[in-house]
Amino acid sequence: MAEEKPYRVLLFYKYVTINEPEEFARKHLAFCKSLGLKGRILIANEGLNGTLSGTLEQTQIYMDTLHQDPRFSDLVFKVDQADGHAFKKMHVRARKEIVALKLRNDIDPHELTGKHLKPKDFREAMGQEDTILIDARNNYETQIGHFRHAILPDVKTFRDLPEWIEQNLADCKDKKVLTYCTGGIRCEKFSGYLLKAGFKDVSQLDGGIVEYGKDPAVKGELYDGKCYVFDKRISVPVNRTDEDVVVGHCHHCGKTCDRIVNCANPECNKQYICCEDCEKKYHRSCSDACRTHPHNRYNMELKQQVEETAEI
Ligand SMILES: [Zn+2]
Ligand SMILES: [Zn+2]
Repeated sequence: MAEEKPYRVLLFYKYVTINEPEEFARKHLAFCKSLGLKGRILIANEGLNGTLSGTLEQTQIYMDTLHQDPRFSDLVFKVDQADGHAFKKMHVRARKEIVALKLRNDIDPHELTGKHLKPKDFREAMGQEDTILIDARNNYETQIGHFRHAILPDVKTFRDLPEWIEQNLADCKDKKVLTYCTGGIRCEKFSGYLLKAGFKDVSQLDGGIVEYGKDPAVKGELYDGKCYVFDKRISVPVNRTDEDVVVGHCHHCGKTCDRIVNCANPECNKQYICCEDCEKKYHRSCSDACRTHPHNRYNMELKQQVEETAEI
């Protein structure tokens, strides 16, 4: 077995009523900081949604403390090992929703949500007839990995998903629908939305792709490529079978690649796929306009290197 790494990255959420989210957020931030944790947590009346990094000990105290609170006693933490912090700072913010679907009539997952399928049952259901598989994530996430044969909605944010579904899948309401996301939180609402929109049979992957990749019963089978994550790591492996598929193509030259970079134009900052050769060739910029932008970070780094060399 591989050697244990000293840090942990936690991913978690819970839909549960939290009164006075602002007050809760303020205290929770102080608590997280006192432990030395880093990451992002959103607090709303509808619950909590977070991702954190810290040492094994720091994260263990955090999990134990939350589990002592009756509201979070059954909170499920997805835990990854890491070599260091996955975040730069610690933020805890009060919001209206813990995931923003921004529907006119919001979905309460306690009242309406799809059936939860464990990884093994989800794996089986994917092979059934008359079934469609919908990826509930954004286009910049699915470009480096997704379940084989999944429908990949071309949306930039979760808020755009309902409209995309109405425009593209309105005639699929009698089919069996399977849906999944990174850790499961978005599907709690999205599957509720699908039911409300008239889809008759809707199921969601319990624990999301992250849990699917860890479950020894499935070992990430039928997931191609990597799973995009919202921290420094950018992506994590999922499929632990012998299949090693790279999903994605370099934005510039089109070769198979799953290397995500941030566009060097600070005003664009788009995360896009770029191979190492093209990073040098196109100055890590997604377009000509970005490459020639006066504040382009790549050009500034280059200039600095030239100046430093000149000084020697
Ligand atoms: Zn390239
Ligand atoms: Zn750009």
